[in-house]
Amino acid sequence: MIERKCQGCNSKFKREELIKITKLNDNTLKINPSSKELGRSLYVCKNSDCIKNLIKKKRIKSALKYNNQKEIARIENELKKCLSI
Ligand SMILES: [Zn+2]
Repeated sequence: MIERKCQGCNSKFKREELIKITKLNDNTLKINPSSKELGRSLYVCKNSDCIKNLIKKKRIKSALKYNNQKEIARIENELKKCLSI
């Protein structure tokens, strides 16, 4: 069984328990991309505290080595909507 680490709490979870964020080839970010869309990815569990941590600690920027603040803000807003926080 493949387990992935949540960037919010550093615990390991099964893939289906996590939200995946991928940096695509066109340098945009995508939440839960299809299996054909490949790129450097991070995972966060479906827990509002972990999403808050991910945003507060700027984990998208560091884990994906990504610098487009506008795109990061867009994805962070989408994550917040996912959980209504
Ligand atoms: Zn977590």
